[in-house]
Amino acid sequence: MSTGRADARNRERSRFETLLAESVALHGHLCAGQLIGVRMSMLGLELIGIREPKGADRKKLYVVVEIDRCATDAIQSVTGCSLGKRSLRWADLGIMAATFVNLETAEAVRITAREQARELANCYRPDILDRYQRQLAAYREMGDEALFTVQRVRLAIAETDLPGRPMRRVCCQQCGDWVQDGREERVDGRVVCRSCAHGAYYAVIDPNRESA
Ligand SMILES: [Zn+2]
Ligand SMILES: [Zn+2]
Repeated sequence: MSTGRADARNRERSRFETLLAESVALHGHLCAGQLIGVRMSMLGLELIGIREPKGADRKKLYVVVEIDRCATDAIQSVTGCSLGKRSLRWADLGIMAATFVNLETAEAVRITAREQARELANCYRPDILDRYQRQLAAYREMGDEALFTVQRVRLAIAETDLPGRPMRRVCCQQCGDWVQDGREERVDGRVVCRSCAHGAYYAVIDPNRESA
């Protein structure tokens, strides 16, 4: 009985190490964000009943990340969700949190990394002198409750934000760019892209004026 439990714990640990190694390979280095992101994803998937995020369950899974930092790469690595597949969305909120959604059951959990975990990490491994190394070691050992806050949530995801073929493509009547997925706007009766409606994030350089 207890051997069975120990086996399960060992399996879980080796699964964690495998996922961590994969995410470090994608991200380029081992950091606190990789540990947090891998653990957050494992917990999120478990809570919404997704066992094979890159296999049988891949079309059921949808993730919203609230920060574009190290942990985001780990979340992409573990879940297999990506911007290009439209299964990963970025809500630009600057919060170390992500929401994991099971599209089939509509179950969703928002998981936030607890700020207190940073301080708590110091108590876990006082034997390690370097503060950052101590944090890394602690993030492997701390319980989920110490690391994360979990909220059951409900999401209304627009059809134009879901994976699948683009629902429509329209031509901007101002600049001529083609706009997919319902991102066009109507201004003074004309259909325009968001850049033409609100201003672009870039300024076009006139090649004639540059060379002159
Ligand atoms: Zn990093
Ligand atoms: Zn335009």
